Amino acid sequence: MLLCKTVSEMHDACRSLRNAEHTLGLVPTMGALHAGHLSLATAARAQNDAVAASIFVNPMQFGPHEDYEAYPRDFDEDYHKLESAGVHVLFAPSAEDMFPPGNTTYVDTGDLGSRLDGASRPGHFRGVATIVARLFHIVRPDRAYFGQKDAAQVAVLRRMVRDLNFPVQLVVCPIVREHDGLALSSRNRYLTSVERRRALILSQALAAVGQLVEQRETRAEVLQAAMRQTFAADREVRVDYAAVVDPETLLPVEDIFGGALIAVATWIGSTRLIDNLLITPRS
Ligand code: AMP
Repeated sequence: MLLCKTVSEMHDACRSLRNAEHTLGLVPTMGALHAGHLSLATAARAQNDAVAASIFVNPMQFGPHEDYEAYPRDFDEDYHKLESAGVHVLFAPSAEDMFPPGNTTYVDTGDLGSRLDGASRPGHFRGVATIVARLFHIVRPDRAYFGQKDAAQVAVLRRMVRDLNFPVQLVVCPIVREHDGLALSSRNRYLTSVERRRALILSQALAAVGQLVEQRETRAEVLQAAMRQTFAADREVRVDYAAVVDPETLLPVEDIFGGALIAVATWIGSTRLIDNLLITPRS
């Protein structure tokens, strides 16, 4: 696996990969890799001749009181994981190289970027969209791989690709979970063992909704009540949102007949966790 630490090295490496091979897949990450990230690399490997991955803890997507400094970084381990997953080129730039002094150009994600996580993390999706747009320009992938785990991010990036005519196909991969249902996240390592048990409340809330949907319930207010009831079992849990929304606009829906995104975000102790369930339209 080739390691590129600067934008120009990565630019050149991807240009020769595209010339020598036929298709190039990109897997953007912030490192601290787990099986969820590696599932994206595996999908990219299966669908493309060559795969590029990036590791960049993007300062622009963290708020002033968030965990940018504390965010887990484990470069050597990540390097070996990506190499074993068959990634051809790894891009691990410095923040100075990605955002040289005097940088003034950003991707504005509009109202969409201020919904769900964008509501409690102002500027987050602007930071995400800006870095992903840059990666797309540097790598020029045919396909880019993202996790359904970050459902609002998927909506924002799909819209960006459409609005700015990026010639890339977004591939969204299913959420990878622990055996007990907890969605894998780099932030799970912040949890104490007690918090780790309490964190199951997110997947439990979604499972309660899943059961109702199986029983053919379609009213959003009923699904929301089921989530509220689950969260009420833990008085310490702080719910950021428990929403029933349109997966593309992230606006609330009253009925899930046409499909819906059931999305939850909570703080377990000082760790903010998210999870979701995508409901396909009723036929
Ligand atoms: P991050 O390093 O957190 O920015 O995540 C990089 C990519 O991995 C994003 O597209 C995430 O949605 C995806 N991802 C993170 N956790 C999971 C998971 N549990 N299952 C599938 N994809 C995931």
